[in-house]
Amino acid sequence: KVRTRFAPSPTGYLHLGGARTALFSWAFARHFGGTFVLRIEDTDLERSTPEAVQAIIDGMQWLGLEHDEGPFYQMRRMDRYREVIAQMLKDGTAYHCYSSPEEVEAMRERMRAAGEKPRYDGTWRPEAGKTLPPVPADRKPVVRFKNPLDGDVSWDDVVKGNITISNKEMDDLVIARPDGTPTYNFCVVVDDWDMQITHVIRGDDHVNNTPRQINILKALGATLPLYGHVPMILGADGEKLSKRHGAVSVMDYPAQGYLPEAMLNYLARLGWSHGDEEIFSMEQFCQWFNLDHLSKSPAQFNVEKLAWVNNHYIKLADNERLAAMVKPLMEQDGADFGAAPDLAKVIGLLKERAHTVNEIGVAAMLFYRKPAPDAVLLAQHFTDAIKPALADFARRCATVEWNKESLAPMIKEVLAAHTLKMPQFAMPLRLMVTGQLQTPAIDAVLELFGRDTVLARLQPYLV
Ligand code: GLU
Repeated sequence: KVRTRFAPSPTGYLHLGGARTALFSWAFARHFGGTFVLRIEDTDLERSTPEAVQAIIDGMQWLGLEHDEGPFYQMRRMDRYREVIAQMLKDGTAYHCYSSPEEVEAMRERMRAAGEKPRYDGTWRPEAGKTLPPVPADRKPVVRFKNPLDGDVSWDDVVKGNITISNKEMDDLVIARPDGTPTYNFCVVVDDWDMQITHVIRGDDHVNNTPRQINILKALGATLPLYGHVPMILGADGEKLSKRHGAVSVMDYPAQGYLPEAMLNYLARLGWSHGDEEIFSMEQFCQWFNLDHLSKSPAQFNVEKLAWVNNHYIKLADNERLAAMVKPLMEQDGADFGAAPDLAKVIGLLKERAHTVNEIGVAAMLFYRKPAPDAVLLAQHFTDAIKPALADFARRCATVEWNKESLAPMIKEVLAAHTLKMPQFAMPLRLMVTGQLQTPAIDAVLELFGRDTVLARLQPYLV
């Protein structure tokens, strides 16, 4: 039975890279009808905050990446880690080390000077027939893992292929500090073991931890999970994605008017592919995603592509849903929804080309505020030649059937009768009705405003 986990450290917001690893772990569990576990790795007390925990949970919720178990908090599992450490000391797979930090640093310095890889030299490592130094008074020991001296650690990384590391390269890792608190790698091991994780999918910044974690898991007699280390996400300039590249926090995207389904679809394609497919539902993604076709090279974050995907989902989205999203923003901008056209209908007209929902809100404002045409523009566009055409148009407005199918030919008749070209007439008309020169097609705009509003707004110009 497949069990995956997302194990963020709550030290900031949920960033795009984290969200993508979460998505992959989630989708893989869904693919096999397995279990997706959320685990909060909050042992770094200095950097972990409750706000960051909440940001992670909010981000996951916005994306709809529901966990089946958890959230588990490592800080609440301290007793369990201590229990395992005690057991390992008893079994002889770990030992107390009384070397002081200064002594360890001196050892490393000696090895560096000798051109060797700096390591702990095993002073306190118990071996058959070896006499350990006398235990120094008033010094609290750390606990070290007894890493095998010979042989290799090897795993078939789902993304990177086979990775083999010689045990000679590895230190006897500190698994508990002098105060007894467990160290990071150790907590991860105990958790992955207890939570029976079958597939560890995580960022490749953790690839160096994996051989250590595997050795400890082996010492515990645990079944090893499969590991997949996903390359990181880079900015468009090829540098590691950071604030410089724009928003890196997932929760900045809803605020800018991105839809969660667009973000998910976009993230799924960052470092994974299924032929040429660009647009697919999460249901479809979960059917496809089996850890094949994960890219070995880093993916590049491209906000234009995200915007393109977002436009696709905006076009599909229910207008009422989009209306509920933009309404608060528009209210902030002073929109008056009183006698104005139905917002969902306005959105239907405006969403085709919008890359964010917020863009729609900005464009929709023209329907919800009193027009204040610029006097200079008006003088320029509303010339004497236009006046009779406007009067003619207003007269016809009183009786024409009020929809764009009837308004469009009626406008053409007015143009013909007064030998005008479309822009000559549509521009002043736009100014009078909406206060601006840039609007969607004039017939559609007129239809949405309604006969009464259009006539009322033309009235001051009919002299
Ligand atoms: N807590 C680690 C992080 O946030 C992830 C550890 C793991 O997935 O094993 O980067």
